[in-house]
Amino acid sequence: MRRPLVAGNWKMNKTVEQATLLVANMVPGLQAVKTVDRVICPPFTSLMTLSGMLAGTEIGLGAQNLHWEASGAFTGEVSPEMVKEFCQYVIIGHSERRAYFGETDQSVNLKVKASLAIGLTPIVCVGETLEENETRRTEAVVSRQVKLGFEGISKEDVEKTIVAYEPVWAIGTGRAASAEMANDIIGNSVRKNLASLFGSDQAEKIRILYGGSVKGENAAEFFAKSDIDGGLIGGASLKAEDFIKIVEAAA
Ligand code: PEP
Repeated sequence: MRRPLVAGNWKMNKTVEQATLLVANMVPGLQAVKTVDRVICPPFTSLMTLSGMLAGTEIGLGAQNLHWEASGAFTGEVSPEMVKEFCQYVIIGHSERRAYFGETDQSVNLKVKASLAIGLTPIVCVGETLEENETRRTEAVVSRQVKLGFEGISKEDVEKTIVAYEPVWAIGTGRAASAEMANDIIGNSVRKNLASLFGSDQAEKIRILYGGSVKGENAAEFFAKSDIDGGLIGGASLKAEDFIKIVEAAA
């Protein structure tokens, strides 16, 4: 049995003051749901404050990115060790980072390795664009992202990772994939590729999330599917009530 996990990706939203208020409103509702791993991924600037607020709770904290190098002349970047000071998780290869900040399967792979080396749990994002979907390349794209993103990872380490299947056309658009389609891609493409790389026993242990316009109203439908182990939530993670509702749906 894979334990469900729901992570909120706040993207570039909330000042420290706003983040503090939002987390204060979320904690009681999130703390009540013991059977789900709950993770909040705010901007870097709020990590220190929120790690203090979440100390003593079971709510995890994640960053939205890191650099793979340990230190040095990389202006504007944040190292794995710096993230590890406050976080247990880190989102890697989100489609917005791939689209706007030049992230590639190769940089994703370096970041996954760096996260694992320092003891962070990477949430590795994969997913096809609308054009790739419409030209029936979903399977090929997702398979490539999984193969290259996980290249050189050991069998022991791979079970410490989390994958998020997020069709780019469903992110922030209000147009979620159908639960059937998401389950099919996750089972027959993401998990199948992980099985061919690491063996089916390992692939069965890895949690795979769906992300893309998940709301309180549609969350249960996704989480009921056999291969969907939780969600990566954008917009709906910015409202305490909505995020709690989604976490409750995963329980
Ligand atoms: C995301 O940013 O990972 C995401 C899934 O966004 P949204 O839930 O807003 O579609």
